[in-house]
Amino acid sequence: MQEIGHWINGKTVAGTSGRFADVFNPATGEVQAKLALASKAELDAATADAAVAQVKWGATNPQRRARVMMAMVGLLNRDMDKLAEALSREHGKTIPDAKGDIQRGLEVIEFCIGAPHLLKGEFTDSAGPGIDMYSMRQPIGVAAGITPFNFPAMIPLWKMGPALACGNAFILKPSERAPSVPMMLAALFKEAGLPDGVLQVINGDKDSVDAILDNETISGIGFVGSTPIAQYIYARGTANGKRVQCFGGAKNHMIIMPDADLDQAADALVGAGYGAAGERCMAISVAVPVGKATADALIARLIPRIEKLKVGPYTAGNDVDYGPVVTAAAKANIMKLIETGVAQGADLVVDGRDFSLQGYEEGFFVGPHLFDNVTTDMDIYRKEIFGPVLSVVRSESYEAALKMAMDHEYGNGTAIYTRDGDTARDFAARVNVGMIGINVPIPVPLAYHTFGGWKKSSFGDLNQHGPDAFRFYTRTKTITSRWPSGIKEGGEFNFKQME
Ligand code: NAD
Repeated sequence: MQEIGHWINGKTVAGTSGRFADVFNPATGEVQAKLALASKAELDAATADAAVAQVKWGATNPQRRARVMMAMVGLLNRDMDKLAEALSREHGKTIPDAKGDIQRGLEVIEFCIGAPHLLKGEFTDSAGPGIDMYSMRQPIGVAAGITPFNFPAMIPLWKMGPALACGNAFILKPSERAPSVPMMLAALFKEAGLPDGVLQVINGDKDSVDAILDNETISGIGFVGSTPIAQYIYARGTANGKRVQCFGGAKNHMIIMPDADLDQAADALVGAGYGAAGERCMAISVAVPVGKATADALIARLIPRIEKLKVGPYTAGNDVDYGPVVTAAAKANIMKLIETGVAQGADLVVDGRDFSLQGYEEGFFVGPHLFDNVTTDMDIYRKEIFGPVLSVVRSESYEAALKMAMDHEYGNGTAIYTRDGDTARDFAARVNVGMIGINVPIPVPLAYHTFGGWKKSSFGDLNQHGPDAFRFYTRTKTITSRWPSGIKEGGEFNFKQME
């Protein structure tokens, strides 16, 4: 059985804690690797080495660091097929989805090539007599990232790229359910020219996360995962004086107005609700048609589309719309919530509960489900299901639909389908959600904008990638300078001179 260790000081290293986790192939249900789970001692030692390596890397000029990013883009493109295969084998998503995962990460590395420009400071000439004032962005030192299973390439790259481009050392603690691709990414960074020790990948579970939270050398943490863990990491990390940004769960609503193109809306809902088995933080899990006629017409369009979805292993190629969910536990949780939906009175109009795939009976496949007449007090509405389950909550008016999205505790993404510019503009202006789509179902911002939700989908001030990432992974220092020749008529410096 393959054993996966850690990436420390430029090479793979076996774990020493004696603790392991199973890594599954979700399509077959088989254990395909044993993952070493790091102890606090292993995390602390790797962090100490990273701190040493950071000193030289932080002093390397930004264009040299940018060249590492440039080389990394080439290597990601070169190894796209290999990475996608490894990703699908552990995660279960289809190969096109896996390539999308890698591509969205690659685009942030492309953005990081602009580090020399993004790290430029500000300068005020003659802030006082003979006095200049300038600010610079310096790396925060050693930063850490704790990432989820659902985007094993994209989210680690969103964290590693900006942190490294800013001159930090970086400790990545990937999900224990999909660790292979992060290890491959670290090897590619070395090939791209990153010095040993600057990037460490420490595999592990709560023990290694707690070690990160309590390690005094680590000064910033970027987390992505479920909301309860996000809140835990934010609270403990900030209590320990660290800069922390945590991105949590989601329940993304799509509002469908009576004037919307309903075929387009139905196609969008099927892609955004069931793609990647619904295991996306930007998946649409709630459809809110406005008016009975809209709701009936939408349901009539959704049912045949959903019934046509093909569920299968990634090895079946382009015939498959989505694959298995990540673990047996994830599947059990989804099935339990579906039963709760039925018990609480929602209409299960597409029932995938009996779904089974010949030859893959032990795989973690979940058939597609569609609920109609869901109400906002039901568990399937309130909780994040993270599976191929779409809930239709009928609304009598636009205002009621808007209020529904606003009252939900999560605020990651949302979308509106309408032909009316006034309504779309009003929605974008008023809704308390971080990322909005207007006739776009999954409005994931591109690398040069920033990604982040509101409410219980995000904790901390700054977003991921884009210019915010360069702010998060740097500290500002402001210098006031005066040269002796400027002192002539000024005498001693005082604040009066600056007014
Ligand atoms: P998760 O919270 O279970 O795990 C995320 C990370 O936290 C992993 O590295 C894991 O090892 C660690 N972790 C888990 N339990 C822990 C504990 N008790 N103490 C300390 N660390 C712990 O999340 P997941 O299941 O891997 O990912 C799915 C979740 O991530 C969903 O809720 C999804 O919405 C969310 N997500 C959010 C975004 C976003 O940008 N907002 C993006 C992707 C995924």
